[in-house]
Amino acid sequence: MQDRYDVVVVGAGAAGIAALRRLAGAGLSVVALEARSRVGGRAHTVLAAPDLPADCGAGWVHSADKNLLAKPIEQAGFTIDRSPPHWMRQSFNKDFPPEDQRAFRDALNEFEERLRVAAAGPDRPGSDFLEPGARWNVMIEAFSSFYNGAEFDQVSTHDFVAYDDSGVNWRVREGYGAAIASFADLVKVMLDCPVATIRHGGPELTLDTAKGRLTARAIVVCVPTSTLADGRLTFSPGLPEKSEAAADLPLGLADKVFLGVDAPEDLPVDGHLFGHTDRTETGSYHLRPFGKPYIEAFLGGRCARELEVEGPGAMTAFVVEELGGLLGSDFRRRLHPLAETAWASDPWALGSYSHALPGRAGCRATLAAPVENRIFFAGEATHAHLYSTVHGAWESGLRAADEAIAALA
Ligand SMILES: Cc1cc2nc3c(=O)[nH]c(=O)nc-3n(C[C@H](O)[C@H](O)[C@H](O)COP(=O)(O)OP(=O)(O)OC[C@H]3O[C@@H](n4cnc5c(N)ncnc54)[C@H](O)[C@@H]3O)c2cc1C
Repeated sequence: MQDRYDVVVVGAGAAGIAALRRLAGAGLSVVALEARSRVGGRAHTVLAAPDLPADCGAGWVHSADKNLLAKPIEQAGFTIDRSPPHWMRQSFNKDFPPEDQRAFRDALNEFEERLRVAAAGPDRPGSDFLEPGARWNVMIEAFSSFYNGAEFDQVSTHDFVAYDDSGVNWRVREGYGAAIASFADLVKVMLDCPVATIRHGGPELTLDTAKGRLTARAIVVCVPTSTLADGRLTFSPGLPEKSEAAADLPLGLADKVFLGVDAPEDLPVDGHLFGHTDRTETGSYHLRPFGKPYIEAFLGGRCARELEVEGPGAMTAFVVEELGGLLGSDFRRRLHPLAETAWASDPWALGSYSHALPGRAGCRATLAAPVENRIFFAGEATHAHLYSTVHGAWESGLRAADEAIAALA
C-alpha cells in the first residue's frame, strides 16, 4: 500500500465498491480501506449447504425494473430470477383465511394512504396513524419490523413515504451479495483495515488506520450510520453534525434463519407463511426459494433484537417453534438448521438498514453533504429515496465519487 492517494474510500460495501470503480475509471489513484476481511458489507452471500448460496443480507433486487444493477449483474454472468415474491400471501391459507388476508392487505393499504396524506403535515411517528385498537395493527407493526427493521413508533412518516419502490422484485440465483462482491477490484481494496480517525485540520487529509497512516486529497466515507454514531470512526476536528445525523438514522434490525427441509415436495415453491397473525413478534417465511429444499425465515424489529440478545441458536429455536406450530410436530422433525444471522452483533454493521427517527427525515441530506469540498459521504442512509437498499447505496457511491472528481478537477 502506498501512503498517498488522490482519493481514499472508507468501507467496501456496495457504496464503496461503486465509488471505487467510478474514481478508478476517472484515472485517479484510489484505494478502498475495508474493516472486514471481505468486501460487500451488508450484501453478503454464504454457502449454507453445497449448492445453496444464501444471502445473509440483501437478497432482493428491489425496484428491479428500474434498478441500475440488474443489467450489470446479468452481464457479469449471474442469473436473475424474475419470479415475484408472495410476501402478503399465506400458503395453504394456514390459520389465515383468504378473507382475512384481503382484510389485512386493505388495512395496510389504507394505513399507507393515511401516512401519505399525513406527510403534508409535521413529521410524526408512523404509529400515530394506526387506528386505535384495530385488528390488523399487530400485523402492520410486523410488516414494519421487516420493512423498516423497527416498529412504526420509531419511524418518521416523512421518510417512510419518501421511499421510492416500483414494486418489482427479483433475485440473483447465485446470490445478490456474491454479485456485488464480484464488482470490486480487489487489487484496489485493503482488507482488515479499519479506519479509526480522519484528520482534516491541515492542508492534507490524513487517515489513521489499523495498517498505518495514509494521506489523501479527498476521502469518500461509505460506512454505515452505526459506525459514525458510536464513534468507531471519528473526525479530528470533530464533525458533530455528522455523528448527530447518523444517530438520527439508526439501523433497524432484520435477521434471517436458513432451515433445510427433508422431503420438501409438499411445500409450494416460493410459498410464503406468516408465523402468527395475532402478534407482532413473528417471522415471515419464504418456502423453497428457487425450488430448493430450504426455508428462509425473516425476523425484524424488537423480536429479532431480543432473540439476538438471547444468543446463538435462539432465533433458530424461535422459527422452528413457529413453523412446528403452523405445520405440525412431524414437520418440525423434517427441519435442520443451516445458518442464522446476527446483524446487530456484527461490529461493522450493528444493524441491518437505516430508518429516520420521527422528525428527523432531513438528516439524510445532512449526512450526505460534503465537508470542505474534500470529504464526501455515501452509503444507503445518504440516499433520499432509495435508502435501505443495495442499489441506493450503489447510486450514492457514484454520486459521492462524482463530487470528489469535480472537486479534484
Ligand atoms: C438482513 C438484511 C436484508 C436486506 N435485504 C435487502 C434486500 O433484499 N434488498 C436490498 O436492496 N437491500 C437489502 N438490505 C440492505 C442492504 O444490504 C444495504 O442497504 C446495503 O448493502 C448497504 O450498503 P452500504 O455500502 O451503504 O453499507 P455496507 O454494506 O454496510 O458497507 C459499509 C462497509 O464499511 C465497512 N466499515 C465500517 N466501518 C469501517 C471503518 N471504520 N473503516 C473501514 N471500513 C469500515 C463495513 O465493514 C462495510 O463493509 C438488507 C440488509 C440486511 C442486513
